Amino acid sequence: MKILSWLLAVLAVYAQDSLSTIRILQKDVARLCALRGRGHADIGSEQAVRYIQKRFQSIGCELRVDTFPLNVYRIRRARLWISPDGRKWRRLRLGKDFIPLGTSPAIEGLWEIDTIPQRGRGWLSNKALRTAYAEAVQAKVAFLMMRDKKLTASVSTHPDRLPVFCVMDTLPLFRYVRVSLHGEMYQTVGWNVSARLQGRQSDSAWVVGAHYDHLGRVEGVTFWGANDNASGVAVLLSLAARLKASQQSLPYDVWFVAFGAEELGLIGSQFWVEHPPYPLGRLRGMLNFDLMGFGEKGVAAVGALDSPLFWAKVDEVRQALSLDIPLLLRPTAPNSDHYPFHEKGVPAIFFYLQGGPGFYHDINDKPETLTWRAAYPFLRWMEALLRQP
Ligand SMILES: [Zn+2]
Repeated sequence: MKILSWLLAVLAVYAQDSLSTIRILQKDVARLCALRGRGHADIGSEQAVRYIQKRFQSIGCELRVDTFPLNVYRIRRARLWISPDGRKWRRLRLGKDFIPLGTSPAIEGLWEIDTIPQRGRGWLSNKALRTAYAEAVQAKVAFLMMRDKKLTASVSTHPDRLPVFCVMDTLPLFRYVRVSLHGEMYQTVGWNVSARLQGRQSDSAWVVGAHYDHLGRVEGVTFWGANDNASGVAVLLSLAARLKASQQSLPYDVWFVAFGAEELGLIGSQFWVEHPPYPLGRLRGMLNFDLMGFGEKGVAAVGALDSPLFWAKVDEVRQALSLDIPLLLRPTAPNSDHYPFHEKGVPAIFFYLQGGPGFYHDINDKPETLTWRAAYPFLRWMEALLRQP
């Protein structure tokens, strides 16, 4: 009976801690998502930096903010109308019916659409984007349209050669389109916010990172970026707060880094490894959080297969906690901020929590869709790992 009541008490503490942790994660995500999509060359990114700085300061971390130069190509206007006959027009909704590729250069006018690529004409293609793009450039078409099941937005540091519009494959057939797309180049700056917690030994340190930037807004339509990656920043902040709460048990320094300009090509993390505030050769490892809002299908660890010894140490901690989370181990890939560290020889794992409805780089990636299914056990795992002597 005594054991039973002890067990119940432990479970109650666990449930309470889990609930209050998720509430804090939700609050951080809501605040970060209120910032106009945290776009580059936009006040949203700057406001996100200020929010993260304040949070780290209130946790009690030592702060350091680095700025780096940033070239951004920003699409300011993207309008598209379709017509079956050139008389009756329907204006398409950005984000719902169509999305321009972030590399689309300016274009303006009325066009007849072809289903084969022809010089100077618009081409509506069913092929894979990469194949269609190469063919379209070669055929010198005016612009490319792709039918797709899901619209995925992107951003770029510069315009490319060809305007590309992805349209939903549920749209009725059309023969004419009117397009109006304008973009501008911006020379601006990006920021990395690095926050340090001091451990007992400073001759060795961890880096834990998450990018705070997202795609911003186009034509007043916001890409919220709740899962990508307000969720990762929220987990980063909560991890820092939990470790600070009992800092005496922290064996090594931990650098928490909120990276900028990930969506533009890992620019912030690349800058960090090129101007490291801590010698890279003395890092124990890098842990990157990107897409942390779900977890029904477990945890994916990108890069686990590249550093098996490092991974074994990371996973040993999970096993010691008896955390029963399904794992997907993957080879590394240049798809998030762990990669510049990996290239510099630092063992680096990119964690993401799998599951959810698959909203990615679209207008549906909103705070209320996140389930936070695996966030709490994942946090406990990371916390124990960073406390491991
Ligand atoms: Zn991301």
